[in-house]
Amino acid sequence: MRRAERVPDMVCVRVTRACNARCSFCLAPPDGNHPNTDTLQRRIDWLFGHGMRVVHFCGGEPTLHPGLPRLLAQVRAHAARGTRLTTNGIVMPDAVLDELRASEARVKVSVHGDAAHHDHIVGRPVHDAVVRTIQRLVSRNVHTTVQTTMLASNPEGFDAVLKLSLELGVHGLTVMPFIPRGSGLNRADDFALSEAQRRQARARVRQARRAFSGRLDLRWIDLVTKPFYVLEPDGRLVIEGRSERFDVELTQLGAPSEARAISPTSTGRPPQPGSR
Ligand code: SF4
Repeated sequence: MRRAERVPDMVCVRVTRACNARCSFCLAPPDGNHPNTDTLQRRIDWLFGHGMRVVHFCGGEPTLHPGLPRLLAQVRAHAARGTRLTTNGIVMPDAVLDELRASEARVKVSVHGDAAHHDHIVGRPVHDAVVRTIQRLVSRNVHTTVQTTMLASNPEGFDAVLKLSLELGVHGLTVMPFIPRGSGLNRADDFALSEAQRRQARARVRQARRAFSGRLDLRWIDLVTKPFYVLEPDGRLVIEGRSERFDVELTQLGAPSEARAISPTSTGRPPQPGSR
């Protein structure tokens, strides 16, 4: 079967590129794309029809899309193997929270260090609002993980986020080293970890994983080494590379009948694990 005729188990569906934050390393900065709910539902049906089993809602900021509760309910109706959501946690409408609970979704909330550093990175004084969102998720028994980006300019940020995660009683903490995509493309000099810093950071995460085993599921996820399939708000299904230059477009979704398969070999070799 040709690659474009079947999609992977999990696809990140960017429901919007709109966002209420302006993170300086944003992988998918606002670009005005914001499809309506009907369009997104048709695309999700298409993905399910082509092999997707787990939907990972992301953005932009997915909670800003008014159709998100409907999309979550749609995925639940498909009896999918799982629903994921990544959010900045600045807002969490009750209707979204109710659907996350009903879907037994796994939610990742981004926190980038202590309050001062987080607000500096996000560009708004929102740390307290994010903490309140995490508390609401935990109190409703939603599987919640804190996600943080490791930056060369803020190595101690990990310890602040680790402490907060333990205090809030979340399920896990995911650490992702900075990659120079999107807004981060121009900030690599400030943010990119050297090889030595990367090794040190990984060792620190491993050490914490052992120390807090049973209390906190600590993971290191490097997007450079893991193929990441994304449905963009403009309908492109893409394998994301370490920067936009390495992206591979698999297909373009419009209305279902308009979907056209594109062989990855016509746009370049898909990035291989370990080579991005
Ligand atoms: S990283 Fe996330 S929260 Fe920050 S600007 Fe980008 S989409 Fe918004």
